[in-house]
Amino acid sequence: MPKRVVVVGMGFGGLSAARALARENVEVLLLDESNYHLFQPLLYQVATASVEQENIAYPIRAIIRKWKNVHFRLARVTGLDLAARQVLTETDRLAYDYLVLAAGSTTNFFGLDHVQRMSFSLKRLDDAVNLRSHILGCFESATITDDPAERAALLTFVVVGAGPTGVELCGALAELVRHALTKDFPELAADQVQIILVEALSSVLPSLPSALQAYAQRRLQRLGVRLWLNGSVADLETGRLLLRNGSQIESHTVVWAAGVKASPLALAVPAEKGRGGRIPVEADLSLTAHPEVFVVGDMAYVEQDGQALPMVAPVAMQEGRHAARVILEREAQRSGPPFLYRDRGTMAIIGRNAAVAQAFGVRLSGFAAWLAWLGLHLYYLVGFRNRLMALLNWAYAYVLRDPKLRLILGCDGQAKGMLAGSKGDKGE
Ligand SMILES: Cc1cc2nc3c(=O)[nH]c(=O)nc-3n(C[C@H](O)[C@H](O)[C@H](O)COP(=O)(O)OP(=O)(O)OC[C@H]3O[C@@H](n4cnc5c(N)ncnc54)[C@H](O)[C@@H]3O)c2cc1C
Repeated sequence: MPKRVVVVGMGFGGLSAARALARENVEVLLLDESNYHLFQPLLYQVATASVEQENIAYPIRAIIRKWKNVHFRLARVTGLDLAARQVLTETDRLAYDYLVLAAGSTTNFFGLDHVQRMSFSLKRLDDAVNLRSHILGCFESATITDDPAERAALLTFVVVGAGPTGVELCGALAELVRHALTKDFPELAADQVQIILVEALSSVLPSLPSALQAYAQRRLQRLGVRLWLNGSVADLETGRLLLRNGSQIESHTVVWAAGVKASPLALAVPAEKGRGGRIPVEADLSLTAHPEVFVVGDMAYVEQDGQALPMVAPVAMQEGRHAARVILEREAQRSGPPFLYRDRGTMAIIGRNAAVAQAFGVRLSGFAAWLAWLGLHLYYLVGFRNRLMALLNWAYAYVLRDPKLRLILGCDGQAKGMLAGSKGDKGE
């Protein structure tokens, strides 16, 4: 009788584990609260009307169709009974022999309640679609208000956090404004639009070498993005962001890209947590007290060379594959090897023709890094149709400088812009 492996979460880590277990002598049950695998690194492009939402998500059942030993259930996991070896969903208890926890992360608001309730974040597909609708709604509202201060607040877009997500979002937003929105809204002067990137540290992209940081800063400034470095957020009121140094920014759009923490499901594992609420694991990625349970991706806390591995897709993918390998080794009565992360680099795109990359010990900036970024992201997108459509969207926007995905969905644009401070609580 084949052993049953339950994989919770079909993001980068879970999908890699499932792929490595496909066609092997184990029965695999995949659980996810969504029925699709989401390519989070391109969420900001959905938010800035560069690619369609359907192009960065892929149905899980279509991925696993040919894997006869792999099954999927759409289910939200609510808890774990590690002693009984069962996963709890809203309706069931599902037994496992091995468990792979890959439920990812959630936005970390560092206890700033108002920021959590009133800012936008980019974690889920509907976050990106809502943000796009909101940005476009702000422009619509700005055309009809007679109040100059209100118009200025509607046209001021603040991104908090200058890691890759914040930098990429600001670059793409600046391009959207410059090439499309200023043409769509001739009644608004281009210089009324402000994009502000707030960062608590003294530079953008803190994980990259200083030469690449300086390049990224110059590119952002050339795109018109204002950098507020050493700026720590204290609170958010409707229409106003307050910083700890006493300054304020009047804006109806604050996007929080300042950090993530492990999925709340990590709380179901009784272990002392590492930074960001992540679960510390053994060298083979299993739990000390439960060697049949593996934790991978953003949920796992793994140190290598004295440093915690970052919460990025390549770590999740390599860990997912590794957990699957250890399970198969154990089934063959062998012990699994320790996990060793192979760092292939970091990159971030900063608008048209510009990116920074550090890969295989080589530093790149400019057009070459931009091409490398495009190639890599296309390669990792799941599904031929998604790759083709993303490429077509990019090529169209590149040649014509005019992305055509500027739809306001799910609400009346004017109201959304005016009520910009109240995005609705998603209960994270
Ligand atoms: C906006 C953004 C941009 C990013 N850009 C980059 C980048 O450029 N490069 C890079 O390397 N990394 C990037 N990352 C980080 C990268 O996406 C994550 O590190 C990676 O997705 C982690 O993989 P994972 O498998 O741990 O979790 P995820 O990929 O997040 O997958 C978690 C899965 O678990 C499911 N799930 C969660 N909770 C439950 C539950 N209770 N029950 C059932 N299912 C559940 C979710 O639906 C999801 O499918 C970015 C992240 C974001 C948000």
